[in-house]
Parts: sequence; C-alpha cells; structure tokens
Amino acid sequence: MAYDPEPFAWNYCPICGAKLESRDDGQSERPSCDVCRRFYYRNPIPAACCFVQRGDDLLFVQRAVEPCKGLWSLPGGFVELGETTDEAALRELEEETGLRGRGAQLIGASTKQSRHTGAVTVLAYLIAQWEGALTAATDASDAGFFSREERPPLAFEAHRDLLKIFDALPSGT
Ligand SMILES: [Zn+2]
Repeated sequence: MAYDPEPFAWNYCPICGAKLESRDDGQSERPSCDVCRRFYYRNPIPAACCFVQRGDDLLFVQRAVEPCKGLWSLPGGFVELGETTDEAALRELEEETGLRGRGAQLIGASTKQSRHTGAVTVLAYLIAQWEGALTAATDASDAGFFSREERPPLAFEAHRDLLKIFDALPSGT
C-alpha cells in the first residue's frame, strides 16, 4: 500500500557543503551537488524485525528508548552499513533479548511513514531456530513470549502490518 512521504528540504551537500541544486537525473528532479557531481536520493530507511516463536507464543520486547518508550514491538531495528538485512535482524534479536537465532527466513515487508525518521521499510524475518536465555537488554526494558490473546498493542504501524502477514502464514511454518 502506498503512503504519503513527508518531503523535507536538503539544502547543502553533506560531503563538501556546497548548496544543492534541483537537477533532473533522467527520472525526476533530485537534490544534486554540482561540485561532487552526485545526486542525493531520499529513500525509505531499511530496518528488520524478527518473529520468534516458543510453541504458539510470539516474542515481543518493551521499548526502553524513544520513540514510543514503554510500548511494545517486535525485536528489531535499523540495518547498519556493512551488514545484510538478515544479519541485522539476528543482531538486533540478540542485542535486545539475548537469544541467538539461526535460519532467518524473509516473510514480508512493510513501508510506512514515521514521524521520527521519515519513511521506513521493515523486512520481517521468521527465525526458525534459536537458543539462549531470554534477557531484555540495550533498547529493550522487557521481553517476553505472548499467546495470541495476550499480545501487547504494538508501537509501530509497520509491525502491525507484518503481524498480519505472520498470522496469515500456514501454521507449522
Ligand atoms: Zn558536494
């Protein structure tokens, strides 16, 4: 589903500091630096989240940091430069919950506008296998497995979207 991007002005080149001009890159008008001879693209920020099951229960974490501190989400976070999206999912899982996952399987994606960071594309991974003791850490203040009836309300629209995709998977996936 499409979403309304919230455009914001980029005025200066982050590399050389020259004033950016609006130029046509062959497709549309983009901010461009005439000194560095490059266009700047405003894209959704990639993030990843994890679906981890214990029996029929699903893992959620309570956010220790803003935005949405105190609310719950799927374990996950932004993809860092130098890692792949599945590596990001597994890293965030271990950082936030202490669980070490394996066999991350992509099950869906959701792109939503965020007030805090602009548009975000969240890739959802099903974590086939995991081990370790559940311990909330870094940007999670609590973590736990919840039955379908007890699931906490989620902070992020993209996670709510992805939860629907997860629930529509054939059981036993
Ligand atoms: Zn420049």
